[in-house]
Amino acid sequence: MSRVSRRTFLKATGAAVAALGLTRLVPLPSFQRSLSTAARTYSNFEDVYRQKWTWDKVTWGTHLVDCYPGSCSWRVYTKDNVVFREEQGAQYPQIEDRVPDMNPRGCQKGGCFSEVMYGAERITFPMRRVGARGEGKWERISWDEALTQVADGILDAIQEQGPESVIFEFGSGEGGTVHGAVPGWRLMRLIGATVLDNNALTSDFNVGIYETFGKFHFVSSIDDWYHADLLLLWHMNPLYTRIPSAHYIMEARYNGARVVSIAPDYNASTIHADLYVPVEPGSDAALALAVCKIVVDRGAVNEPFVKEQTDLPLLVRSDTGRFLRQPDVEGEGREDQLYVWDRASQKLAKAPRKTLKLGKIDPALDGAYRVRLHDGSEVEVRPAFALLRELLEDYTPERASRITGASPRLIERLADLVIEAKRIHILQGFNTPKYYHGDLMERSMALLLALTGNFGRQGTGMRGWNSSQLVMANNLKSKPGFEGFMELAQKQLEIEHEVKKRDPDLTPEMLAIEIEREEAKRSALAPLNMGAMTVPPHFFWYWHGGYREVWNRRDWSDTGMKRSFDEYFREAVEKGWWEGVVQPKPDQEPRVFIGACGNTLRRTRGGGKLLLEHAWPKFKLVVTIDYRMSSTARQSDIFLPAAAYYEKTDFRFPTAHLNFLVFTDKAVDPPGEAKPEWEIFYLLAQKLEERARARGLESYRDRHDPPREFRFDGLLHRYSMGGQIGPHDEDKLAEDLIYDTVRAGALPERTSLKTVRKKGIVRFTHIGIDAVGMNMATDIKPNKTINPLTWHVDKKVPYPTYTRRIQFYIDHEWFLEAGEQLPVHKPTPKMGGDYPFVMTSGHQRWSIHSMWVLNGVLSRTHRGHPTLFMNPQDMKAKGIEDDEEVRVYNDFDSFYVRVKRAPSCRPGQVVIYHAWEPFQFRGGKSYDFAIPGFIKWLHLAGGYGHLRYWRWNWVPQQVDRAVMVNVEKLT
Ligand code: SF4
Repeated sequence: MSRVSRRTFLKATGAAVAALGLTRLVPLPSFQRSLSTAARTYSNFEDVYRQKWTWDKVTWGTHLVDCYPGSCSWRVYTKDNVVFREEQGAQYPQIEDRVPDMNPRGCQKGGCFSEVMYGAERITFPMRRVGARGEGKWERISWDEALTQVADGILDAIQEQGPESVIFEFGSGEGGTVHGAVPGWRLMRLIGATVLDNNALTSDFNVGIYETFGKFHFVSSIDDWYHADLLLLWHMNPLYTRIPSAHYIMEARYNGARVVSIAPDYNASTIHADLYVPVEPGSDAALALAVCKIVVDRGAVNEPFVKEQTDLPLLVRSDTGRFLRQPDVEGEGREDQLYVWDRASQKLAKAPRKTLKLGKIDPALDGAYRVRLHDGSEVEVRPAFALLRELLEDYTPERASRITGASPRLIERLADLVIEAKRIHILQGFNTPKYYHGDLMERSMALLLALTGNFGRQGTGMRGWNSSQLVMANNLKSKPGFEGFMELAQKQLEIEHEVKKRDPDLTPEMLAIEIEREEAKRSALAPLNMGAMTVPPHFFWYWHGGYREVWNRRDWSDTGMKRSFDEYFREAVEKGWWEGVVQPKPDQEPRVFIGACGNTLRRTRGGGKLLLEHAWPKFKLVVTIDYRMSSTARQSDIFLPAAAYYEKTDFRFPTAHLNFLVFTDKAVDPPGEAKPEWEIFYLLAQKLEERARARGLESYRDRHDPPREFRFDGLLHRYSMGGQIGPHDEDKLAEDLIYDTVRAGALPERTSLKTVRKKGIVRFTHIGIDAVGMNMATDIKPNKTINPLTWHVDKKVPYPTYTRRIQFYIDHEWFLEAGEQLPVHKPTPKMGGDYPFVMTSGHQRWSIHSMWVLNGVLSRTHRGHPTLFMNPQDMKAKGIEDDEEVRVYNDFDSFYVRVKRAPSCRPGQVVIYHAWEPFQFRGGKSYDFAIPGFIKWLHLAGGYGHLRYWRWNWVPQQVDRAVMVNVEKLT
């Protein structure tokens, strides 16, 4: 072992201290104070060491970013108003006997957030652009100057185009609940601005899960993975993306589980699998359906589950392909009263609607039957299962092998494991929704689990996403505390009453969803006059963002489309399928863009090209609220500096995936003139009122039908909950969230901000009262892992789908037109043109979105610049060396990037992990310049049971996986 002399050590330590000074202290006076204190006291070797272990205070902290499920609790160490390090908290209790606890939670990004706080990209003063947009020339201005310019821009937009011309976006950058995107959301609703649905913006909506279950907000707790005996890593690379949770996969193996990785590339998680099933990108539906066929052929279907829980026994008319409905049989009655064929009585029987219990009915799964209709005619009907069985004939292992590239023997082996397993869990991330036909993949994967009865029990299921539990009424309430809670509850009851009158058979979960739909259409819940909660972004993109032309490219589109994209789009709007949320209107030019806690020009697929070319010139004002200089900030006119995660009182948005409320404390003051978002929007509300008064403006109406009236006077009063929450009252806001949540029964009775501040985390006791919480459909038990859907599986409560069952047969007219009434495999359209490489993506290992992507510490753990992973065979064929810069192009556009030699990458596939900032690429053109940003036309459908929009649900979103490109060696 080499010996380090005291002299060498002191020299090295001194260099480290100096480096710390350079990277952290230069911009911040408080740090300079810290440095001078340190310089005074570091008189000898022992002092240097001792100083490292002294601090002024230790607080709890977490990272308010969507590193789902994140929620890692950290100890944050502060000295002289500077955070100098963080350590994992490790205070998560063991929940269930013999199931490992969650400790320690954390990843390498969280372990150096204090570095990001003081990184070179941090901006701590309001700034105004002085050069052209994107030129990088700025001047420092006062908050008053900045807010005046923003308020005037908003007022001009309202006067010239209406309030919907103010576009507000937030993405996945800020997962706070007190601050982050929430205060902006509240103020923007109060002025009637367009708030774009952030789940559609991030493309994190599991469409196929939603189509199947009528919801996608259900997840098991991460410790429940331990109960599975077969874990399928399918469209998920947890070693990259679930770092704090991945240990459960390894631990499940100690519990006897087998782990299978299904992926095109031999990724970091595959290394830990027992079986690897390599597949062509986008071929997963064919694989799943082939395994389903084997399950059916071998008689391994869990028939009681399928008959009771799914729509597969429901009768479908052979003449129309539509379900047999009550008006067909009786001439009147409910459209959604459907039928089964009762084997016991050999008669038609109404499928129960209020319960999943079948009683004495024994529905047939096969066969063809003739039934008499009310007009005396006869038609043939067949159970949907019989149609499925027929469809599966196309998915023999041999045919699936030709599509997927996996051998028939391997597909059989996978089926063996599925049939042998008692508890199967598909660990599937947000990769599927980013494929054009990702919904078909998810529907096929869900089918596999349903045929084998793998839902609603410990160790089973697949996942969507969930964020509920905390009563997030702070963008709805007019007052804090009991009064505000009761006012909201009262409103909720009124709507419930109205909705129930329309349909008395709704379950509590369905009611909660209908309330959300009412809220989306007419801001019904808010006691205040407010604009829409959120609206789908595709109208903005289509009419104002330059996407119409791209989405109409037939050669890049779904070959199964029978009509043009425009025709589908027009029909969807004309039929009123998006009633109440078509915003802004086609003739309403967007004028102001406000981005808070997101990075629009990095994230929007094709946005770096299309939005900049088409939407940006229309915006007379672009405002970014962030703690750092992002690509979007660089293209803004005004930058407002926000506080970072350890500089404010907040909670990470909670999720039943972890089931803890995780607190982050204000360890230090925000540096310079940075402010928490509640205060920023407080000041903006104040300024808007002041500037409107100066212009003599009193009120205005939006373009909603019927129009909503908004007033300027009292805007601040409304924003600040009747004047009761001041600009610095973040603790009061946090207390209010806890208060409401305790009243809703989701947190233990005596929980308060004081107790949370002391412990850092607190376990939820209930799934929450909003629709997103109800989608979990389960009870939380103090000593059990959480598994969703038990209300359906155990208590036989219907699902919120059109058929009230897990729905595999969708007889919407467009689904029939598309041939997607049942899950099928369809090839990914050649988006970008006919080129030899399939470009895929995923979350990178070294950053959460782009938040850490410039961080020096993390950059030293990889090559420090964007890389394109490529197979050595492909590199050789093109004469490309490792780390050589290449041009990647298709018919949409091109970008330059360095190649990383990656034998793990599938030949013909290139992978670029996302979230690099565009300005890290030559000419500011990132990989996004090769992504046209398609949405699937079928997702414009509506007016059918669960296929109707509500916040975060049934919303078209852009896809970016499996875009076609070529890679060109530079000469
Ligand atoms: Fe945990 Fe997310 Fe923080 Fe990483 S960044 S430590 S996953 S909360």
